[in-house]
Amino acid sequence: MKAAAIRAIETGETKYTPVNGTPALRTAIIDRLRRRHGLAYTDAQITVGGGAKQVIFLALTATLDEGDEVVIPAPYWVSYPDMVRANDGTPVIVDCPESDGFRLTPDRLCAALTDRTRWVVLNTPGNPTGSAYTTGELRALAEVLLDHPHVSVLTDEIYDEIWYDDCAHPSLAAVEPRLADRVFLTNGVSKTYAMTGWRIGYGVGPADLVAAINTLQSQLSSCPSSVSQAAAAAALAGPQDFVRETVEVYRARRDTTVKLIGETPGLSCTTPSGAFYLLVNCQPYIGRFTPAGTRIENDEDFTGHLLEDQQVAVIHGSAYGAPGYFRISFATSTEILTEACARITAACATLSERPS
Ligand code: PLP
Repeated sequence: MKAAAIRAIETGETKYTPVNGTPALRTAIIDRLRRRHGLAYTDAQITVGGGAKQVIFLALTATLDEGDEVVIPAPYWVSYPDMVRANDGTPVIVDCPESDGFRLTPDRLCAALTDRTRWVVLNTPGNPTGSAYTTGELRALAEVLLDHPHVSVLTDEIYDEIWYDDCAHPSLAAVEPRLADRVFLTNGVSKTYAMTGWRIGYGVGPADLVAAINTLQSQLSSCPSSVSQAAAAAALAGPQDFVRETVEVYRARRDTTVKLIGETPGLSCTTPSGAFYLLVNCQPYIGRFTPAGTRIENDEDFTGHLLEDQQVAVIHGSAYGAPGYFRISFATSTEILTEACARITAACATLSERPS
């Protein structure tokens, strides 16, 4: 993709592109969704933006009226609730405990839906849990959604190529074609191709929603960078073998990190089936004391202690709607992960049940 970007610069592909992306990139997206999920989208159903983040934001801008509700299963990617609030919507957070694999169940979904529900957000595989929905689980959620025709589903599938199970994770739009006109599928090149800085994401779904997003984008940025679009088209259309090779590297890192966390007294985690995050339960350490006598009141104090005591930076679970947990990203080298886990173990060992 670097060569494609250089070629784009050298051949003068450096001007504005169509608002909804270059024809080459839109074709690459359509082809990819057909190959990956058997989904058939037309050109008018594709929008391309400056990262999946921007596409999701604009989908909310295009659809939310004040007070409209957006169901967000927790743990969630940090941005969803703020994006909803920034667009005058009301986030409806639904707790999905570790005992449910951090996944939304049909009962919990049903209980969260109201007349004001505009969207349900489904991020699979998920950040920060690495949890992913099976075909059966998606089908069960779809049954509920079929009974609520005013509700649309925003699927965030940005980690869809990073999976460790026996087969690739399914997409709701493919699992339940009857929902096709209510699913807005978002994805991008940031994670699969490690192209976070190129800022290219896409959304596919109902043509009227896509047209509204394009209208917003035309006044927001006119179009995403032409050079980045050339690189993204090359990534999507080019050889994909290295993706599975990279995922095998992630798998080894995942297994190492899960093992080391499991060996640390008081810490535990569910093995993620996708993405590159581990959500670690640190509840046994809440209420303990640091050597300086400070009480660990919550997960944020705990992660603060890891930072101060051992210079390990992880993110506290409360940021993701998961108090009592912290998130590790294993998108880094095995050496760093091994060292970080040793330091986490050392920092935990300094916490005592009573102030010293
Ligand atoms: N969705 C999820 C769940 C993410 O974790 C991220 C990035 O961390 C994004 C979307 C953003 O993707 P992009 O870089 O395409 O904006």
